[in-house]
Amino acid sequence: MSQVPVSAPAIPVARPWMGEEEAAAARRAILSGWVTQGPEVAALEQEFAAFVGAPHACAVSNCTTALHLALVALGIGPGDEVITVSHSYIATANAVRYTGATPVFVDVELDSFNIDPALVAGAITPRTRAILCVHQLGMPCDIGALVRLARAHGLKVIEDAACAAGSQVRIDGDSGADDWEPIGRPHGDVACFSFHPRKLLSTGDGGMITTRDAALDQTFRLLRQHGMSVPDTVRHASTKVIQEQYPVVGYNYRLTDIQAAVGREQLKRLPAMVARRRLLAARYHDALSGVPGVAVPVEPAWARTNWQSYAVRVDTPSRQHAVMQALLDRGIATRRGVMNAHREAAYPHGSWVMAPGGLGRSEQAQDTAIVLPLYHQLSEGDQDRVIAALREAVAA
Ligand SMILES: *Cc1c(COP(=O)(O)O)cnc(C)c1O
Repeated sequence: MSQVPVSAPAIPVARPWMGEEEAAAARRAILSGWVTQGPEVAALEQEFAAFVGAPHACAVSNCTTALHLALVALGIGPGDEVITVSHSYIATANAVRYTGATPVFVDVELDSFNIDPALVAGAITPRTRAILCVHQLGMPCDIGALVRLARAHGLKVIEDAACAAGSQVRIDGDSGADDWEPIGRPHGDVACFSFHPRKLLSTGDGGMITTRDAALDQTFRLLRQHGMSVPDTVRHASTKVIQEQYPVVGYNYRLTDIQAAVGREQLKRLPAMVARRRLLAARYHDALSGVPGVAVPVEPAWARTNWQSYAVRVDTPSRQHAVMQALLDRGIATRRGVMNAHREAAYPHGSWVMAPGGLGRSEQAQDTAIVLPLYHQLSEGDQDRVIAALREAVAA
């Protein structure tokens, strides 16, 4: 029988960390007289670029539009194939479909939920144009190996870094303790970030595209604002009348200045958010490693994840629901693992390609993973309740 927790506070699976600073920033933008893409957006772009070490950062309305712009700007369209994963939030594969290109789904590794780099070469065909890799749940994928492979085959690399603001990698060949590089430098051609509340840094909704290529950055800026040749901020500041042109069909993928002002405060908090999550994740790791029936996620030696989510795996699909319900009965919210696009009705036969190797591990990961509560304000005491409840539930 399920019990309704009365006195015990419910522990959510995630929670944004925002306060008076964000509220004051939104107020500042609202009272400034300029509320859509303007000076706050420009400032957030500069500050985010500096944080990840990218020469260019272009703010957009969310990560889905960021992925779409990245693919369009790289010239990907009908007849092209893009190598990616089914095992991701559906926006990853949807962005490929928007362009008319076909997603080619490669299987993942079970302990990181990331694309298996050993399977990528086998997925390349004469139609392949790009690899759209995901740093799933914040855990860096093997971007060094993927970029090497892509360069050898003349392919572009787009990083879906939706969850990975604050994550770091060490590319092989490097050595020493201080050569950690932020995700988003980027290591591929373009990296796309999300500022949705389920990620660390949030603006409500929002996104960012980083690149080292100035021409690509210019294309993002053109396309995010209707293909308008002269941004409204420039016309506003000009003492001469300027008539803008529309040389290409663009989109409205703008971030607002209200959101950007909030984002600037969130960016200041990001290092503390990552540090707190890494501490809590280490506690989960120590308490749950070796528990029969539970597999903990593995962080490769060359990766430092921001632990956007901490997902364990139970041993059989039949236990996933029971364990989640047992935790909910104790006031603890969890979520199933990452979904698989190819299992959804929006992905009928013919709309995607299965890469050699199949998608067995992607399906197993979806059916056995459980995302545990992890957020900045989670207390050690509440985390201990999660750990105790999980141990009890898997032993039952
Ligand atoms: C959240 C997420 C997205 C979508 O981000 P939005 O900002 O909500 O559009 C895309 N890919 C991955 C891997 C995500 O986790």
